[in-house]
Amino acid sequence: MNKREFLKSGLLGVGAALFSSSVLSAAIPACRRQVSDHPANIFEQPPLGYAFDALEPYIDARTMEIHYTKHHAAYTKNLNEQLAKLPDRHKSLMEIFDHITQYPVSVRNNGGGYFNHNLFWQIIAPGGAKEPTGELKRELENSFGSLDNFKKAFTDKAMGVFGSGWAWLIKTPSGLKITATANQDNPLMETEKDRGMPILMVDVWEHAYYLKYQNRRREYLDAFWQVVNWDQVMQFYRLERFVL
Ligand code: MN
Repeated sequence: MNKREFLKSGLLGVGAALFSSSVLSAAIPACRRQVSDHPANIFEQPPLGYAFDALEPYIDARTMEIHYTKHHAAYTKNLNEQLAKLPDRHKSLMEIFDHITQYPVSVRNNGGGYFNHNLFWQIIAPGGAKEPTGELKRELENSFGSLDNFKKAFTDKAMGVFGSGWAWLIKTPSGLKITATANQDNPLMETEKDRGMPILMVDVWEHAYYLKYQNRRREYLDAFWQVVNWDQVMQFYRLERFVL
């Protein structure tokens, strides 16, 4: 490989790292803090990156549209409005989650709602691997016995969320764990007993499934597994932390 080829492949490598599997992988960089001092423009809603009907028939277009353009957009707007009132509004979201009890509950709810959906849109994305491979596959099998056992345990955890919340697969110093949070809390917040790096998550607020599945959360969860983009899960698994 000559120098020119090396440079070219190196640049492609950077692009692949940022944008591999789909444009959605850019969502974390895209939701970085804005350098603008405009107080109401601190965080931006990343593009969904695919059409509202891209996950049909598992997740219907109308639900995706309302979820993204109403719910997620509102969390984003409210987070920015709340942060604009605070003297330490320039803290990173990760720092805020680390010290979430020092913030108004509206920052906790909207900050979580903003960030959790940023991740979730990438996890339920068209295309990508239908199963984990490599190190993640091995660790899931070692931790839970088999991939099917893992899925069952994760689904059970999601079924067990009373009211609105999320189920998560997190990476911790002592291995992979399944956990659940209420409302828009997440495993990065200091309030959680089980804290770690979220690599797979499912939104079990009724707004995520009620139009199509009404009260049938289990059917929604079965559909969820059909649209998990395991390339993205593996990409999160390889990360040390989120930066924003
Ligand atoms: Mn939601």
